[in-house]
Amino acid sequence: MRTTFLPFSAPLLGEEEIAEVVDSLRSGWLTTGPKVKRFEEEFKAYIGAPHAVPLSSATAGLHLTLLALKIGAGDEVITTPMTFASTVSMIMLAGATPVLADIEPGTLNIDVEQVRKKITPATRAIIPVHFAGQPCDMDPLFKLAREHGLTIIEDAAHAVGTEYNGRKVGTFDSVSIFSFHPNKNITTGEGGMVCTPDEALAEEISLLKFHGMSREAWKRFSASGTPGYDIMLPGFKYNMMDIQAAIGIHQLPRLDGFIERRRQIAEQYNHAFGSLPELVLPRYAPYQQRHAWHLYTPLVKTERLSIDRDGFMAELKQRNIGTGLHYRAIHHHTCYRTALGIADSELPVASYASDRILSLPLFPAMTDQDVHDVIAAVTEVVTAFRS
Ligand SMILES: *Cc1c(COP(=O)(O)O)cnc(C)c1O
Repeated sequence: MRTTFLPFSAPLLGEEEIAEVVDSLRSGWLTTGPKVKRFEEEFKAYIGAPHAVPLSSATAGLHLTLLALKIGAGDEVITTPMTFASTVSMIMLAGATPVLADIEPGTLNIDVEQVRKKITPATRAIIPVHFAGQPCDMDPLFKLAREHGLTIIEDAAHAVGTEYNGRKVGTFDSVSIFSFHPNKNITTGEGGMVCTPDEALAEEISLLKFHGMSREAWKRFSASGTPGYDIMLPGFKYNMMDIQAAIGIHQLPRLDGFIERRRQIAEQYNHAFGSLPELVLPRYAPYQQRHAWHLYTPLVKTERLSIDRDGFMAELKQRNIGTGLHYRAIHHHTCYRTALGIADSELPVASYASDRILSLPLFPAMTDQDVHDVIAAVTEVVTAFRS
């Protein structure tokens, strides 16, 4: 058994990131400035997005996107129960009503036919989440959205580098929101980016992100700026700092390599676990895509084991293997259960997955020995608790 604990995720930071942060600290310019601008431009170029707005988090991006689209009281927004809390919380904080549509069993992505059933005259938008870095089936989603005049807001927190039918997530006729939390495929510590082809929307989000000041107001303390400013509307404090962008500038060129290493590890898991009927392995959707492999999330078939999912995680932890939980379904949390009151029978696929899913370690700094240790521990636990 391994003697040190293996976390389920860890960022991979190099000397360049460290030196760039130190450079920011020594320069005296800590907050939004030239490095945020550089990161914005380089990210935009990598994705191929017409407009990009750097922010303090993806949560901020979801919040501002909904506000900029004037989605609020009386409106419904359809999303997936298999997502992080903030997707749904931001819909609620915008004043709108979240509506959950069930997921597909293979990919755990939102099921377009279930979305169709949830559309009402109050529906304004759909928020698909590219679960684990695998793209949702965007063509039928866009077709449905066009038929009903709905906006698509992609929660792309898992999907930096994901491609669908040869196009990167972030280039569609929608709004895409990326996260740079340390667990995500690249990091800025905390941070997020909104990409959209809609220039007016990008402008509105830029205005809202920093006190309602005009876009380049950060320059007002620099040599080229003037100290005056005008407030256009009451705004938030959701700007990214140069200290954060300093990290991102050096993470971005490594992203494709990170994804390749993640894919190799996921394929090793798929190969090793293929013979264990107690696990349901992640499946590739049949369309052309690049999976960013943000997460590796098998389901443990508790009906074939003498322990439940939490017990399975505890057994792995005893063997020094960390796990994550992405996700306990939205309708199982107290907040949303109270607000929405959705029964498991309304979301059978997500409810089934919620009680059985776990995230195994998957990050580019993992060594071959780490991968081997995970495979050995999972196989041992399955074998020991088979019923
Ligand atoms: C991480 C995550 C978010 C929130 O991202 P932050 O940058 O931490 O705000 C939103 N949605 C999903 C699906 C996520 O995984």
